[in-house]
Amino acid sequence: CGIVGYIGPRQADELIIKGLERLEYRGYDSAGIAILNGTLNVYKKQGKVKGLRKLISDKDTSGTLGIGHTRWATHGPPNDSNAHPHTGETGRIALVHNGIIENYAILKAALIKEGHTFSSDTDTEVLVHLIEEIQKEGNLRLSHAVRLALNRVEGAYAIAVIDREDPNVLVGARKASPLVVGIGEGEFFIGSDASPFLDSTKRVVYLEDNQVATITLEHGLQLKNTDNEEMPPFIQELDMQ
Ligand code: GLU
Repeated sequence: CGIVGYIGPRQADELIIKGLERLEYRGYDSAGIAILNGTLNVYKKQGKVKGLRKLISDKDTSGTLGIGHTRWATHGPPNDSNAHPHTGETGRIALVHNGIIENYAILKAALIKEGHTFSSDTDTEVLVHLIEEIQKEGNLRLSHAVRLALNRVEGAYAIAVIDREDPNVLVGARKASPLVVGIGEGEFFIGSDASPFLDSTKRVVYLEDNQVATITLEHGLQLKNTDNEEMPPFIQELDMQ
């Protein structure tokens, strides 16, 4: 139901948890966070962001690149394993998703045939395995694999993805579910709306349907559509306090 992402020089954990708290008004049943720091550390839990805060209070959440999620269950009951972020077979990718993957059952059956083992009941998890499968076939960069995976997916989604093997990039994409990129001073945010990062920046880019955002500190925000056409980002300055 809510997505937050961060890439920049600051510690990501507190920015993401605070961001999730600002999205609490949307309603949710579970919360989770993934931070990349050489290793990929993922913590998630049924219940409130407060519970997630408690869970991570004695855990390693250092790192300056991460994603967070509040879930409103559509496929699979609210529990710890169905909470996002989802990681796949190899544990290299973490992904959060708002929306519904309509053709997940067909994709899941095909992936299980390929030898994938699923650890949740969600529609979301097929996306992670699909991205992994595509990466395995082609040794592709994360954003490329995400784009190819999305071409095989039907439904509504806003997603944010990170990859231990491609550790300097935050990828976001959307179709029929909102996603906005916040452009700060040498740092970037992702949100379901701008509320998680408004105290850091009011410069935003609202993604359009079928757009994939590739965010690195080196090249900034790059937008492509799922047909691999480059699109110039339209930056808006939000007028609010
Ligand atoms: N369909 C996904 C799930 O049930 C995402 C739900 C959401 O938008 O939070 O896990």
